[in-house]
Amino acid sequence: MSIKMHHFLRIALSGIIMLTSFAICAVLLVTERIIVGFIIGIVGLITSAYLGHKFTFSVPAACPKCKGKAFGKKSSEERLYFECTECGHIQMTGFQYSDETTE
Ligand SMILES: [Zn+2]
Repeated sequence: MSIKMHHFLRIALSGIIMLTSFAICAVLLVTERIIVGFIIGIVGLITSAYLGHKFTFSVPAACPKCKGKAFGKKSSEERLYFECTECGHIQMTGFQYSDETTE
């Protein structure tokens, strides 16, 4: 998959988890199960952030040069880039990556 597709899938993946947990949370809040609702909301938030992070750094995108496996990395300026494991090509994405969790 291309780097653009990779980026899109990451947003879609974490977005779906977040929206689903918020929907469940809202239903529970309306039906006055407030504590359970809040727990599910928070767990959903953490899960979507965690999975988005895992996805970015563990699922390879296709290198634009050789179609090899390029893994996401974070530069010192908090920018996301992809480094190819086969030809060493570095593709800057320009996406800001300001996630607190670092590897
Ligand atoms: Zn490559």
